[in-house]
Amino acid sequence: MKTLPYTESHLAFRSRLRQFLKSEVTPHVDQWEKDHMIPREIWRKMGRAGFLCTSVPEEYGGLGLDFLYSVIVNQEMARTNHAGLMAYLHSDIVVPYILSYGLEVQKKKYLPGCINGDIVTAVAMTEPDSGSDLASMSTSAEEIDGQVVINGNKTFISNGFHCDLVILAAKDPLVKSPHKAVSLYIVEDGTPGFKKGNLIEKMGMRSQDTAELFFNDCRIPKDNLLGQKGAGFVQLMKKLQQERLLVAILAVSMARNMLDWTVEYCRHALQNQEPMTKSQATRFALVEMETELKVGTAFLNDLVMAHMENEDVTAETSMAKYWCSEKANEVANRCLELVGRKSASEDCPIVRMWRDVRIHTIFAGTNEIMKNIIAKSMKL
Ligand SMILES: Cc1cc2nc3c(=O)[nH]c(=O)nc-3n(C[C@H](O)[C@H](O)[C@H](O)COP(=O)(O)OP(=O)(O)OC[C@H]3O[C@@H](n4cnc5c(N)ncnc54)[C@H](O)[C@@H]3O)c2cc1C
Repeated sequence: MKTLPYTESHLAFRSRLRQFLKSEVTPHVDQWEKDHMIPREIWRKMGRAGFLCTSVPEEYGGLGLDFLYSVIVNQEMARTNHAGLMAYLHSDIVVPYILSYGLEVQKKKYLPGCINGDIVTAVAMTEPDSGSDLASMSTSAEEIDGQVVINGNKTFISNGFHCDLVILAAKDPLVKSPHKAVSLYIVEDGTPGFKKGNLIEKMGMRSQDTAELFFNDCRIPKDNLLGQKGAGFVQLMKKLQQERLLVAILAVSMARNMLDWTVEYCRHALQNQEPMTKSQATRFALVEMETELKVGTAFLNDLVMAHMENEDVTAETSMAKYWCSEKANEVANRCLELVGRKSASEDCPIVRMWRDVRIHTIFAGTNEIMKNIIAKSMKL
């Protein structure tokens, strides 16, 4: 079967990253999950080792590498069996906003820190009363006396505790059309009026610092506008494509780990004095899941190539996000079922992935929203 066109450099990068994660991340994830937090220092370690923001061009201190390196980071992070260190969110979702829409001065100011891990980033769209329907957001950004004054609350913001910089979506209250009112702003941690709330206790992704953010007469310079005023909606829609593709890749990578572990388990676990894999019911379940993961991977590989060639694959990316996240959840449920009572224990390595993958059908745009996008492309 065709795989992605990895070169020797890609493979060397993967092996270096795997080694790094094996020594710096995997031994600590159980503790991080208990702490409901990753240490800030791990971001710096990742950055200094060259594993953050790999696509940022050399002129800003980056490596200028292609998207396949981002795919590799995502796949290797999935192998660590935790979702706290959301490297892909920082490197391949938030930082690209600065890279694509930032002024030269903004890029020079922030990108080197994003690359070496001194700056951790977050993107803040969701509000207590506004999720899928971004147009209904109420956080306001008003120009007063040459500054922008922000008021409102954001919630469920990943990297919300550690973030040093937030890409914030907010509305100009004077603009009537919601789609033309939204702009993106860079807000630095420590700006008066910007406060981080408590961590949100979640069902899964327990070591990920997901938090509320509060803006109370928070004044930022007008120059912190990111891109064109009023273009925020379009900017978000464009950047959500790569986010959805990465969520699909992560879902399939997690499902792959769960299935591989379960296959090994079933080879050795006995049922009626025989390995479970001798049972036709078990074999068929494993075969069906293997087939689905191969189908999903083939689709994703195609999509990655199209994405790298800048093709418009909006509908296909939505298909991948919804289908892969649903399949990953099915795999998670079926694997847990096969393992039986042992899967009820935290000692079972797939339990955490079962919990963590659940949210994949919801974030980055719910699967229902994905289906609406696909329906539109089919002119339904
Ligand atoms: C762990 C985690 C991390 C997150 N990280 C971030 C982050 O970093 N930044 C950020 O801004 N947000 C983040 N979010 C928020 C996430 O993006 C939202 O949860 C998501 O957009 C869905 O919004 P909602 O939860 O408000 O659901 P709602 O929009 O309230 O939807 C509720 C239900 O209604 C359905 N629905 C809504 N509209 C339609 C429609 N038009 N047609 C059909 N069905 C519809 C949905 O599919 C869903 O089933 C995160 C969420 C979680 C759980």
